[in-house]
Amino acid sequence: MSIWDSISVNNRFSELPRSFYTPVQPTPLSNVQWLAWNKKLALELGFPEFEQCSEELLSTLSGTSEPAPFFPLAMKYAGHQFGSYNPDLGDGRGLLLTQVVTKSGETFDLHLKGAGKTPYSRMGDGRAVIRSTVREYLCSEAMAGLKIPTTRALAMMSSDTPVYREKQEKGALLVRVSESHIRFGHFEHLFYTNQIAEHKLLADKVLEWHFPECLEDEKPYASMFNLIVDRTAEMVALWQANGFAHGVMNTDNMSILGQTFDYGPFAFLDEYDPRLICNHSDYQGRYAFNQQPRIGLWNLSALAHSLSPLIDKADLEAALEQYEPQMNGYFSQLMRRKLGLLSKQEGDGRLFESMFELMSQNRVDYPRFFRTLSNLDMVDSQEVIDLVLDREAAKMWLANYLQRCELEDNSPQERCESMREINPKYILRNYLAQLAIDKAEQGDTSDIEALMVVLADPCSEHPEYEYLAALPPEWGKGMEISCSS
Ligand code: AMP
Ligand code: MG
Repeated sequence: MSIWDSISVNNRFSELPRSFYTPVQPTPLSNVQWLAWNKKLALELGFPEFEQCSEELLSTLSGTSEPAPFFPLAMKYAGHQFGSYNPDLGDGRGLLLTQVVTKSGETFDLHLKGAGKTPYSRMGDGRAVIRSTVREYLCSEAMAGLKIPTTRALAMMSSDTPVYREKQEKGALLVRVSESHIRFGHFEHLFYTNQIAEHKLLADKVLEWHFPECLEDEKPYASMFNLIVDRTAEMVALWQANGFAHGVMNTDNMSILGQTFDYGPFAFLDEYDPRLICNHSDYQGRYAFNQQPRIGLWNLSALAHSLSPLIDKADLEAALEQYEPQMNGYFSQLMRRKLGLLSKQEGDGRLFESMFELMSQNRVDYPRFFRTLSNLDMVDSQEVIDLVLDREAAKMWLANYLQRCELEDNSPQERCESMREINPKYILRNYLAQLAIDKAEQGDTSDIEALMVVLADPCSEHPEYEYLAALPPEWGKGMEISCSS
């Protein structure tokens, strides 16, 4: 009996017309080996115990042998890349393998990234390397640990197949999981190619599959767009509050569900630098950290334009106008929680502004600052001051902050406990990802396993992994990540 007999699948995307996709079989890699299996996620999806079926999982998920229920396909989409429309996009190195239906009736896509060439590969080889695969695996799980909406990672495999980037590397595979792989760019493709019936069909399917709560509304498509705006606003606010720079916010990398999608040259801020450009091909800084809120709106406007056959202009504009207040609302709520300030008081705006100014002028480590503030019930305030180059400025800000804390109803212990629940101790800093990659390339997955423990529960203490909370060494500061992945 195959494990796939015990897993319920539903290849609903393959039932759409062929203009949505091309059926493509994965091109097998040679000597595929496990790099990681996400046991917790696998359990949620209803997979049997890994030990009982690891060989079958490896050969079927990697595309080396073909299990009966899969219908691998490359999705067709388009998108705005760095502000310019590109009609020629699609799954160029990933395939939607199938949709798994869990016991509770939820449907999740299994997508295999690095599966080989497709009709949408353009000049690419259809492959992914260990480096980029480990980064996506770890970061999607780190985001989930931080409760930021994200695609997930179920599995990761390496191989002996050579893949040529700046140097020769090894081909790798990622099994990505999400309720949907539909991007803003799916709508853009059907809109710009004038496929009117297909465009409406996609909207109907997105409503049915992902926004059923809108079906009863007077204007279901407009309600759906309102929700997409709201979820995108919340996602971007979470990025900003957590110091996450995505790096490639093209509309083909924007999920219709408002999940963080397609991990490339991302970075979590170490030293606070609002102008950080983590993508070293982003010469203009279009996707700099502090541009993300604005780009979120730009991308939603591109989506709005492509939805114009279905939604009145006035409704689209009204939804877009909500983005900024929603984003700011989510952001200030998050920052309040990070600082343990739950009530709204006069002067709070100035306290926040002066904090960001202090951090950027003194290159303060962003996550460490909040975590240390969260420990003020246990550590001396000098620990906070020592994080800031200008000690006098730090003292002044801290005195203002502590005075402000007194206006809250809770005790310092209660305040700090609640702050420790939102300010992580463990962050996927670029240097940690790099160390894990270096080992994984040598076949040693111990760093990946250790990181998975702390990143799944980043706000708790993990004494045996204290070293994973360390600040970056000199070589790991301001690392530039290549886009070639
Ligand atoms: P990304 O920058 O990963 O979002 O990819 C942008 C587009 O290029 C998508 O259509 C990808 O499928 C495609 N692409 C990226 N890398 C490769 C590759 N190595 N081979 C084929 N297509 C690729
Ligand atoms: Mg992409």
